[in-house]
Amino acid sequence: MMKIAVGIDIGGTNTKIGLVDQDGSLLDFQTFPTTGPDNFNEYTNKVKKTVLSLLDGKKIDYTDIIGIGVGAPNGNGKTGCIENPPNIKHWGTVNLVTPFSKVLNKKIVLENDANVAAIGEGKWGVAKGLDHFIVVTLGTGIGSGIVSHGKLLSGSNGLASEGGHIMIEKNGRNCGCGGRGHLEDYCSVRGIKLTAKEITGEDLTFREISERFHNNDPQMVKVFEQTAEYLGHGLSIMGTLFSPEAIILAGGVATIGEKLRFDVEKNYNKFVFSAFKGTTKILVSEISTAEGAVIGAASLVL
Ligand SMILES: [Zn+2]
Repeated sequence: MMKIAVGIDIGGTNTKIGLVDQDGSLLDFQTFPTTGPDNFNEYTNKVKKTVLSLLDGKKIDYTDIIGIGVGAPNGNGKTGCIENPPNIKHWGTVNLVTPFSKVLNKKIVLENDANVAAIGEGKWGVAKGLDHFIVVTLGTGIGSGIVSHGKLLSGSNGLASEGGHIMIEKNGRNCGCGGRGHLEDYCSVRGIKLTAKEITGEDLTFREISERFHNNDPQMVKVFEQTAEYLGHGLSIMGTLFSPEAIILAGGVATIGEKLRFDVEKNYNKFVFSAFKGTTKILVSEISTAEGAVIGAASLVL
């Protein structure tokens, strides 16, 4: 009899819910807008309805669910709360695990979305078999999950490893967190759009930037050369502290591909502590951005 896990990725725009089998294959998934249901009870009921509809479609019994893993921005595994995430402001800080356990009547495990990506990458991705690695999610913002000695680092407050907010320019761009000059302000989708605007004077979408880059537009080549330098700098700070076997780039920006990866690795080795040069591989995640978050979330209970 097939046992499955439910993976839930709560994003700023959409909530994605999927059924994942014990080999890490995504059987089916559904998506709905996170901001649609205004209060959290309504949202919890919507989650339950979606899970039931997915099970029905696959003719899987509710009793075959082993547990439910949830990844969310500022999701805190220690407190069971989503703590005032900048991209989902309408809930503020809300306890997720208690109402989810009550309504869904299953084991619920919550984690920060970047940590979820790290767990998924270690279980089924390019970090499989590694005991020391860092996953950096490069999307609207930047998140990071650090695995050291085979264990996810969570820190004293359950929210450790905010690599996106490492300072790389003392008097740099303003950050959504209230600080300035953070890695996220240069190497997230938002940061890259700002760099492109500085270089071209145009407001370009990330898709336009990416397409022009792949057509060898010299201005966009420059955009990604700068991005790679900033990213290599930021990652070298993490690498100097944690000496990982690999740093895995995930999320939308990572889809730019090999040229970016190569340049990030080159800059990383330029900036990292000299004894560590050449000891850390920079890799690109092979788990698709769309599916990775759901599979990673499910892996919290598999
Ligand atoms: Zn910041």
